[in-house]
Amino acid sequence: MIHDQSDERIRHSTQDHSPSGDSAAEAASGADQQLLRVCSVLAHELRNPLNVIQASADMMNPKSDAELHLQSSLRNQVERMTHLVDDLLDMSRSTSGKFQLRCEPVDLKVIVQSAVQNMSSMLTSHQQSLELLIDDQPCWVNADAYRVSQVLINLLSNASKYSGEGTQVRLEVSRQNALIEIRVIDEGIGIEPDLLPDIFDFFAQSTSRVSLEHREGRLGIGLGLVKSIVEMHDGSVQVRSGGPGCGSEFVVRVPACEPVDRPSNNTNELSMDMQRSYRVLVVDDRRDNEFIVRSLVAKLGEHDVRSAHNGSAAIAALESFVPEIVIMDLGLPDITGLELAREIRKIDACRETFLVALTGYDDNRLRQEASSAGIDLYRLKPVSIDMLKEVFLHPQLMNRELMTG
Ligand code: ADP
Repeated sequence: MIHDQSDERIRHSTQDHSPSGDSAAEAASGADQQLLRVCSVLAHELRNPLNVIQASADMMNPKSDAELHLQSSLRNQVERMTHLVDDLLDMSRSTSGKFQLRCEPVDLKVIVQSAVQNMSSMLTSHQQSLELLIDDQPCWVNADAYRVSQVLINLLSNASKYSGEGTQVRLEVSRQNALIEIRVIDEGIGIEPDLLPDIFDFFAQSTSRVSLEHREGRLGIGLGLVKSIVEMHDGSVQVRSGGPGCGSEFVVRVPACEPVDRPSNNTNELSMDMQRSYRVLVVDDRRDNEFIVRSLVAKLGEHDVRSAHNGSAAIAALESFVPEIVIMDLGLPDITGLELAREIRKIDACRETFLVALTGYDDNRLRQEASSAGIDLYRLKPVSIDMLKEVFLHPQLMNRELMTG
């Protein structure tokens, strides 16, 4: 396990975060808090190796079909592992009452389309087809889009995982008076009657021989998260199955809301001009991470990239180099990334510098502290070329450029 002092500083700061005023969290048992701590540390430690693998895949220049296949397998595996890490952390958050939603009116049809897209490679690799039946009526919900998409992906990936090749998965979305109903129906191995009542409990899993053959990535967390998320949206989830061999059906119901007219935030409308050259400072004490970020930035275009391996070297670099973008780890050996951000903001020439935290710590309180310290974006490892593209084309960065000329 990778362990260094800088990680320890941030770790203490995340441990100290008591969920002020949150009665569910106050009621959480010491064991749940301990589990949350272990999962946070584990998630952080796993994000560093994932960072290296993701970046290596992105750096590959495939020249043959075999290399292309290898690159796509690497990316798929990193995505799966990142998903498992996220699920593990979410489970511990939901049991310790630290799970938070960011709800707003969203068009469920848009979330469904992106979840379906997300699932297409899994379905194709299992030679399964997806039938999508979507109501003509508006299907808007007041929801956290990310979490709703997590619900859909967990149900769809189970439908695929627990079904054989050549079967069909059906996804139906309809409006039923004041509710939106989502049905995920498969023709798979089905569920034994004695598992049905407990299936939404964390770690409830079938021990049947047929089910054990479908071991791929089984943690026993997915349905527990589905239930927690759906109930936090004032909804419900039910399961039906005719028994082994008869397929399964999961039904989610959440309250509908009125559609909202919002100007589209179409990223295609953004200038995709990656020719613009930026001065970029990368701050990370881990040289493999620093090398990865530098290499990926270089892949994006002709940028002037410098690096620093601790806070004081970063501040010294600012004397001669006024970066437009700083990409920084939060656990540095001398000062924390938050202290570094505050120092950078004190320098007149760097008031408009776009500050991006790149960290293994998925922690809401730390996110808020980062924002108060002047950090513009908070992104989780593993870093990928797509993530950096999003940073370099971020509307906030572009608006600043327009303002400063
Ligand atoms: P995991 O799939 O990682 O074991 P989940 O919480 O998603 O965890 O599911 C719990 C258990 O419920 C699974 O292990 C499996 O036994 C059963 N299950 C879930 N979805 C299905 C499905 N669509 N068909 C058959 N069994 C399922």
